[in-house]
Amino acid sequence: KLLLEVKDLTAVISESKQQILKGVNLVVYEGEVHAVMGKNGSGKSTFSKVLVGHPDYEVTGGTVVFKGENLLDMDPEERALAGLFMSFQSPVEIPGVSNIDFLNMAYNAQRRKLGLPELGPIEFYGYISPKLDIVNMKIDFLNRNVNEGFSGGERKRNEILQLAVLGADLAILDEIDSGLDIDALKDVAKAVNGLLTPVNSVLIITHYLRLLEFIKPTYIHVMEDGRIVKTGDISIAKVLEEEGYKAISEAQL
Ligand code: ADP
Ligand code: MG
Ligand code: MG
Repeated sequence: KLLLEVKDLTAVISESKQQILKGVNLVVYEGEVHAVMGKNGSGKSTFSKVLVGHPDYEVTGGTVVFKGENLLDMDPEERALAGLFMSFQSPVEIPGVSNIDFLNMAYNAQRRKLGLPELGPIEFYGYISPKLDIVNMKIDFLNRNVNEGFSGGERKRNEILQLAVLGADLAILDEIDSGLDIDALKDVAKAVNGLLTPVNSVLIITHYLRLLEFIKPTYIHVMEDGRIVKTGDISIAKVLEEEGYKAISEAQL
């Protein structure tokens, strides 16, 4: 079933009106894993932020249909409730707020908006416990203060845990692999793989190939100067590995 259809999407930076997205086309079906790759500055993060409705960007053209509805008509909160997830990094350590309290608050906020009763600490503990296995985290991770002394790998796994808690039809994971060593990378990949079901989809944004060896994407897209210039299977990754992005751009010209 069709999940997301992006057609000729163009967007500018709200403040400067500088155009960043120059006509993005992308179709995602349920159960697919899409990877968007591309050089630094090609517009990958802008694309993901535009999808979730980030106010720094203004859509100037094109259409985005998500689960049969016009995504561009929705505010960011409505997009999240409709089943679109983008990992949110709590930017700071929050003294005195444990990770489990933080996740419980985020989950209850979602339940309130859906008109569902909130979960108290004990119920929430029951809800989150089995999810820890998926992301390969120990229970004491929940009792630490938010982000306090988290390693790069722990922060990333915490983002996947947020996804496991909140659930999503389409999860956008932007650079969940940046700055990770190979073991942390495998852990993150395992966590993502553990969350995949036949009906949900993931859009993984990365400029490294390493992660894609562990998360087998259905499609790989290459973004360049605000457009997806090439789409293919894992063989694209091999060309990139051997010859770099230049090989892809030249093949397009
Ligand atoms: P990528 O994620 O592929 O590295 P980005 O989407 O982050 O690329 O950025 C694309 C281009 O747009 C870059 O040149 C970046 O500097 C610029 N850009 C993106 N967002 C902003 C912003 N809020 N303000 C100014 N420039 C921005
Ligand atoms: Mg970048
Ligand atoms: Mg980026």
